[in-house]
This record gives sequence, structure tokens and C-alpha cells, in this order.
Amino acid sequence: MSNEIRRCINCLISETFPGVKFGDDEVCNLCKKFDPEKEKQIVEANRKKIDTLINEKKGINRYDVIVSYSGGKDSSYTLYYLRKTYDLNILALLVDNDFVAKQAWENARNVTARLGIDLMIFKPDPIFMHHMFKVARDENLYSISQLMRANSICLSCINLISNITLNEAIIHKIPIVAGGYIDGQMPSSGGVIRTDSKFFKEENEKKRMYFVSKFGEKINNYYKIPECSENQIYPVIINPMLGLEYSENKVIETISKYGWQKPLDTGSSSSNCLLNDYAIAVHYQKYKYHSYESEICLQVRKGFMSKEEALSKFNDIKSPEDFTNAIFKF
Ligand SMILES: [Zn+2]
Repeated sequence: MSNEIRRCINCLISETFPGVKFGDDEVCNLCKKFDPEKEKQIVEANRKKIDTLINEKKGINRYDVIVSYSGGKDSSYTLYYLRKTYDLNILALLVDNDFVAKQAWENARNVTARLGIDLMIFKPDPIFMHHMFKVARDENLYSISQLMRANSICLSCINLISNITLNEAIIHKIPIVAGGYIDGQMPSSGGVIRTDSKFFKEENEKKRMYFVSKFGEKINNYYKIPECSENQIYPVIINPMLGLEYSENKVIETISKYGWQKPLDTGSSSSNCLLNDYAIAVHYQKYKYHSYESEICLQVRKGFMSKEEALSKFNDIKSPEDFTNAIFKF
């Protein structure tokens, strides 16, 4: 579908991606300013920061960390990494968005059981979830810079899940919240994000009010976060994958030893969610670039993904009309 688009000969980013410009050599501005040494230093700095933080917080409460767990490959690897490297007491929280693939459930059960990790499942009201996805599909909710990292449907879901996880962290007094985000899905400054009373009272409140206006009052079930009690430490958010050299093949090879298998019904850009391909199709129709182009082309630039693999993801984009299954009729 996207064959006709002009792409960087080095990283394959398309000319339709916001801010991308090509030189006469058909190489993009992002490749030209890419500095592998600097990237390595950022990864190393993230790893050190995460390491220091974990050692500082380990053992101060019942659970050391709550992991926002999807059953997908990256959050499965995050569980493995935190368990095996630091021997942490982990609570894995799986938020069921009503589109979790059958194999992802199986993977979540296998991986947590084999790593000795508690698994908690939270299922928001599916009628609300479908309503949220409809609004996210049909309205313009996000800025161009937000849409450069993910599409509107996925961003709405990710925001909701992040809040539910923070909520549980505060309720259970868990000092660390971990996500499975990889480079390109998140700014590299997202290795360690500290929260405080201002974070919740100002930034999060602003978000909550915005989403109440878009999705309705029910969003309060997920966005109204209790205040930290006196003496309770505000949770710190970490993304351990930003402190590791990422390789999709290595990730899959590792977690396969813990009973993880690739789902066959989630498309090539997700390993847990049945809605992902549809969300990508809707985004592509509107903006003419793959909603995960930023992370895919970064992997290519870093040499962690082949151009063939990236192209197969870009050529896999469907049209929203192709999704005739009743589950997409929201
Ligand atoms: Zn490029």
C-alpha cells in the first residue's frame, strides 16, 4: 500500500513523516544528525540511572515494582530483565482493553508463572473502552508531535493504562512503576521519570479534565488518582528497555524460554493487541505515515532491524475498510 511513498534510502522513513527532509543523496535529516556514539551514551546513562534507582528502592515495601504488563514481547522481556537482574518482587498488572489476543493471555500466564511473578488483571468497562476508541478514531485529540510516536487510538489506551498502573502503585505503596517502552516509542529521557505532588495535581489533573471533556465522566474511574499519604514516597516511573541495546530477535529468543509464543492474529506491529493493526490503518489513512515509523526507522538506523523487515511492516498497512470483523464496529 505504501510502495509509492518516497523513503530515506538509509532508514526508510517516509517524506510524509512530520519534519522529515531529504538531501540530494535521498538521505533524511534524521539520519544525518544521527550519532551512534551519542546514542550509546544515552542508553548507558539510562541504564546507570535505572540501576541506582532500583538499588535505592529495593526491599522498602512489599512489592518493589509494578510492571504495566501487556503480555507482549517488550513488557515480557521487562519482567524477565527485572526479575533476573535484580531479583525484584514484582506485581505485573495486565489491563484488558477488550482486544487482548488469546495467545497474549496464554503468554502472560506462562511468563509470570515461570518467573514467579504475581499477575493482577484489571478490566475496564468494555462499553466505555469501545466508546473511547470511537472518539479517538473520529476526533482530533492529540498534537502532531504526540502522533509522531503513536496513533490516536493507541495513545488513548496507553494513557489510560499508565494511569491505572500509577493508581495501583499508590494504593499498594509500590515505589517503582515500570513500562516496557522501547526507544522511539518514548523520548530517551523517559528512562527514569520522577513523580511528585505537582505531577499529579497539575499535569495529571490537566490531562484528566481534558479527557473528561472528550471521553466523558467515566474516565474518572481511571484518572482520579488518590493523593499519596503522608510519608509515602511518590512512585518513580522507569522504562528499563531504554537502558538496554534493543534487539527484537534477542528479546523474542529470551522470552521464548519462558513459554512466550508470537500471536498470529495481531499483525506485524503488535505482539498482544488485536486492535493495533486497525489503529495503524486509521492513522495511515489520515496522515500517510505508519504510526510506529519513528521507532521502526530508529531501529533500522541503529542497525537492530533490517530494511526488509521494516519494509514488510510498512507494506502490511491495510485500509480501515478491510476490517470487516464485528469487533471493529465501534
Ligand atoms: Zn533516514
